[in-house]
Amino acid sequence: MHDSQLIDPFGRRIDYLRISVTDRCDFRCTYCMDEDVSFLPKKDILSLEEIVQVAKTFIAMGTKRIRITGGEPLVRKNILWALEQIASTPGLEELTITTNGSQLYKMSQDLLNVGVSRINISLDTLDPQRFFTLTRRDKFQQVIDGIEKAASLPFKRLKINSVILKNHNDDELFALTDFALQRNMDISFIEEMPLGYISDHDRAATYKSSDEVIQDLSQHYQLTPSTSTTSGPTRYYQVAGHSHRVGVISPHSHNFCDTCNRVRLTVEGRLLLCLGNEHSKDLKPYIRQAQSNITLQEAIIEALALKPEKHHFNLDEAPQILRFMSATGG
Ligand code: SAM
Ligand code: SF4
Repeated sequence: MHDSQLIDPFGRRIDYLRISVTDRCDFRCTYCMDEDVSFLPKKDILSLEEIVQVAKTFIAMGTKRIRITGGEPLVRKNILWALEQIASTPGLEELTITTNGSQLYKMSQDLLNVGVSRINISLDTLDPQRFFTLTRRDKFQQVIDGIEKAASLPFKRLKINSVILKNHNDDELFALTDFALQRNMDISFIEEMPLGYISDHDRAATYKSSDEVIQDLSQHYQLTPSTSTTSGPTRYYQVAGHSHRVGVISPHSHNFCDTCNRVRLTVEGRLLLCLGNEHSKDLKPYIRQAQSNITLQEAIIEALALKPEKHHFNLDEAPQILRFMSATGG
């Protein structure tokens, strides 16, 4: 099938798929999920074989890049097998993962060996006590060791992702940036999104815009907007004197929908057409061939027709998207 089949009603070419391989996680980041969050029963989630089947179908239809995420993708049993299957599928240009870093010390070499080329690692603070407060888990050193391990290996690119919350960690912008740049990594600062109800903090009170982040950073670094992208929503800045970049992801303040090139598969087999809307199609019946008169490829094309033009987030209202980021896959 030709690439042009993966085009949405607004003419956007959808060549990027994100797959959440689990909703489970070994952390409980306060902006992402509550401590007592309930996870999906095993019977409701796709097997790794089914996930590989969907990935291969998308690749056959023209998908060039796949990002594996979660929950925490590296806690899913036998994930390396699935990564290898996907990475070795002809037509795929890049397999990347997003991880909280907790498993990187023991898994980095294997990830490189099976064909993962880029890793985004989430790290919101360099203070162990604050790390514990933000993630509700005492694994700061384990994450730092994992990052150092990954940085010692020849990955094509490593990037730190930090969600910035006013009065929680926005005083660490320079420390986090220095940490990344010194290790030849890029870093992106993310605006918190209102996905799912959380009890820890008021999202409107902790909101810090990307423009404020760039203003703060400009006091310390000479930043020049960069023209290069990595096909994601990040707006990058070149940092004078460094080969790596600082970026911002601004779902509130700079809507990036007009260049959206992606869709997301949840671990239940639902194809989400937009991070900020509920538009979706359940692919599970087609994956499991319960409806044999329509193939998985046809179901994907039908789903793309549902992709909305854009999303709107409003922090002053109750969240309109009730699923957590861990279910969506970041
Ligand atoms: N567990 C992995 C991790 O933390 O990198 C992968 C999944 S996590 C849901 C993907 C990304 O989403 C992380 O960088 C995390 O910080 C971010 N995230 C989670 N909840 C968010 C929210 N409400 N707003 C903005 N980013 C969020
Ligand atoms: Fe887990 Fe990632 Fe959510 Fe933190 S952001 S709770 S590490 S899924």
